[in-house]
Amino acid sequence: MNWKFWSLKKSLFVYHVNAGACNNCDIEILELLTPAYDVERFGIILVGSPRHADVLLVTGVCTRQVKKRLQELYLQTAKPCVVMCIGACALAQGIFAEAYHVGPCVDEVIREVDPNAIIAYVPGCPPKPEAMIMAVVKTWQKLDELAAAEPKPVAPALPEVAGA
Ligand code: SF4
Repeated sequence: MNWKFWSLKKSLFVYHVNAGACNNCDIEILELLTPAYDVERFGIILVGSPRHADVLLVTGVCTRQVKKRLQELYLQTAKPCVVMCIGACALAQGIFAEAYHVGPCVDEVIREVDPNAIIAYVPGCPPKPEAMIMAVVKTWQKLDELAAAEPKPVAPALPEVAGA
């Protein structure tokens, strides 16, 4: 297995971006950190910088004002970085579709800067914490597929030792 994907599976560092949510999706994300779900026991922790992130957790409809900032945040992450669209707004603009302030969908915004981005979708308004945990499991499965498809690294040949 490719080491990049292997290390991603062991502990996902998550950076949360509110791109224009009503805050309900964000409350459900916080619920994941409470003792009821306690996702840290699976090695999933929230981090304070996109530079430490393996996953961008995006909630809310992407407003026109936020679009450029979201792209900059994504570009600051180490690759591969999984973008997880949380909730109907992040997936397809939800109840804010066609509002004056709404930009393109989150996946379109990310694919403008990285056409090969890994994007996971968690539907619901807001999605339940169990759905987010299921999305993480599916993301792990996807990382397994990607790791299997990558060519295995070849160990460098050792120099010959005279007289050995
Ligand atoms: S999906 Fe629903 S709960 Fe989440 S930000 Fe949109 S309106 Fe709010």
